[in-house]
Amino acid sequence: MSCDFIALANSGVQKLTPYQPGKPESELRRELGLELITKLASNENPLGPTSTIVSALAAEAGQLARYPDGNGFALKSALAEFYAVDTAQITLGNGSNDILELLARAYLQPGLNAVFSQHAFAVYPLAVQAVGAEGRAVAANAADHDQPYGHDLDAMLSMVDENTRLLFVANPNNPTGTWLTEAELRPVLDRVPEHVIVVLDEAYAETADVEGYPDSLKLLQEYPNLVVTRTFSKAYGLAGLRVGYSLSHPDIADVLNRVRQPFNVNSMAQACAVAALADQKHIAAYQQLNSQGLVELQAACEQRGLATLPSAGNFLAIDCGRPAEAVFADLLKLGVIVRPIANYGLPNFIRVTVGLPEENSAFLTALDKVLA
Ligand SMILES: *Cc1c(COP(=O)(O)O)cnc(C)c1O
Repeated sequence: MSCDFIALANSGVQKLTPYQPGKPESELRRELGLELITKLASNENPLGPTSTIVSALAAEAGQLARYPDGNGFALKSALAEFYAVDTAQITLGNGSNDILELLARAYLQPGLNAVFSQHAFAVYPLAVQAVGAEGRAVAANAADHDQPYGHDLDAMLSMVDENTRLLFVANPNNPTGTWLTEAELRPVLDRVPEHVIVVLDEAYAETADVEGYPDSLKLLQEYPNLVVTRTFSKAYGLAGLRVGYSLSHPDIADVLNRVRQPFNVNSMAQACAVAALADQKHIAAYQQLNSQGLVELQAACEQRGLATLPSAGNFLAIDCGRPAEAVFADLLKLGVIVRPIANYGLPNFIRVTVGLPEENSAFLTALDKVLA
């Protein structure tokens, strides 16, 4: 008889449910033997990396025996120049997911809490619970709000107390796509107590083509308790490499630097991120593709009488009007991978990434068959 190894885990971890990733293309191919697969499940950039990135990757390959630069000098310098910030304000992460975990590890412990919204990014409760702190999921906007299921900042603020250390704001939020304007965000930054760090998760900042989207770089100068997280996984098309970062007060960066793994961002990720940041033409092309694709998908859903949530991301949450798990399963059989979001408390919704025009059409064709 063996010991109960689950019961041995710390109390927060015992109650954790692992993050559910989008279904990998290779898995579906194995299961169904399908040749043509359309993956619109993980908000990746459908254009993929450019040849510049492939060259940067190849150039790095000869150095694989060496540890990466643990301080990420080249990437931090490039980011500092790009954003006109000091390198001391930058923390690099193994994806921005890493940064979220570093924040939880550094600022939370049992007895302390973090506040986030219902229907918000799943990593917040995971990171908080793993360190034995309390996660406070705050009721989101009602379905008839102009940002349905989006963050209710006043309600979030009312859940902050003397034991709160982190307030997570996803802007735009995944999986809803809903967003907050600077005018909505500022009063929260003004009112939140000093001992609360506001984590503004801007994983989709590059595609947030909406009026009033916050100038977070300006906010950083005004609010020392603000941390902005961004990533190379989404618009920059480097999800497979795992690289993200935060911009913050240098003292917060100092704290995060104490708890991170010494080599948390690998050498290929660093080199490719530098190259990707330099290629803003590719980002601009992607922004255009995404904005157009999003509008077309929204219109196509409207034509079909399917409600969608407003989105400032590179994805769209669609109300199937019936349990979406079955819609997801039927789409899979047709080789289209989307994301059912019942685990986010939205059982009738699927989340679809904006793809290439032909991918969007393939999705719509399959959806018509499934919903017929
Ligand atoms: C995808 C995503 C992230 C993190 O992605 P990384 O690949 O870890 O950088 C963070 N926040 C939100 C809201 C996301 O959707």
